[in-house]
Formats: sequence, structure tokens, C-alpha cells
Amino acid sequence: MSTVAIVLDTSTIFRGAVDIIEDGIVRNLESIDRIFYFTTHSVISEIKSKKSEVLVLTIMHKITVLEPSRRALVHIKKVASETGDISKLSETDIDVLALALDLMEKYERVIVASEDYAVQNLCLFLGISIISIRKKIRYIVEKRKKCKNCSTIYISALEECPSCGSSDFTWIIKKRKWKK
Ligand SMILES: [Zn+2]
Repeated sequence: MSTVAIVLDTSTIFRGAVDIIEDGIVRNLESIDRIFYFTTHSVISEIKSKKSEVLVLTIMHKITVLEPSRRALVHIKKVASETGDISKLSETDIDVLALALDLMEKYERVIVASEDYAVQNLCLFLGISIISIRKKIRYIVEKRKKCKNCSTIYISALEECPSCGSSDFTWIIKKRKWKK
């Protein structure tokens, strides 16, 4: 069993965070023990400016609002410059990514829920899983490790293969869809 931190961005809160939280979709995908939901103050400001507080209020008590660290912000900007995504990211996007980076130090697994391609691209680059809700097809994308010795696929947080103990692996992108 594991604990998972999910960071929600503005697009996801508008389109389907209620589903993610209420349906227990993520919980059903894997043997996840506990899920904690997070977002940033900048996301909350965007939501308030778009006057959709009613929708959001129904789930807000389940979401912890945090500010990313300065160190994580600097790191995200640096990586985004290298990948060429920086021009496509808003300040809020960078906050969300930086918060996910901070949470990676405390949680076994961190997932960013975003509809934004630049955000998703950077997440995969950093080894952070993503959830997307696009129309009726939703998917979760994760960067996993595949053991070179026995082909077991395991989560990136593990240092070595849970089946054979080998630390020799290749990266794979695992994408799973589900329909509402
Ligand atoms: Zn193995």
C-alpha cells in the first residue's frame, strides 16, 4: 500500500477534479492506501477570478493549499528552459510543478492532474506521473522502470527491482485509459 499526493491545476479543478476526488478513480487503479490532494494559492486565485467558486467549494475542504519553495521554483524554471517549455508555462503552471517537486520529498508517489501539454511534458521529464481528463477519455501517464534482468515493471521511486533486486533498468512510459 502506498500514499499518493495529487497536485491539481486550474484546468483540472474546472473540468473534473470533483470526479477524480469523488469517484475514487485513482484509488481503484492501483493498491493505493491514502491520497492527499494539493494545489497552490495561485490556482485558487485563478478559480476565484473565473467565478466558479460554487463548483470548487464542494471539494475545497479536501484540498490542501500550499506555496511552493523558492528552491523548487528555480529548479522548474531551469528545467523548463532546457526542455523549451518555459514560454508555454504560466506562473501558475510553474507554481504547480514546483509544488509537485517539493512533495516528491515527502510522498512515495506524486501525480500532477493537468490538461496542459507543456505541464504534462515537463512532468514526464521530471519523472512525475500525470492524470488528464479530456472529454470522456481520461488517462494516467507514468514514467516507470523496467528491469533489464527480469522485465518486471515497477514505480520510479524504487531503487531496485522488487522481484529480483537488480538495479539495472530502462525507462518506459506507461499510459492507461479509462472511460467514464
Ligand atoms: Zn528484476
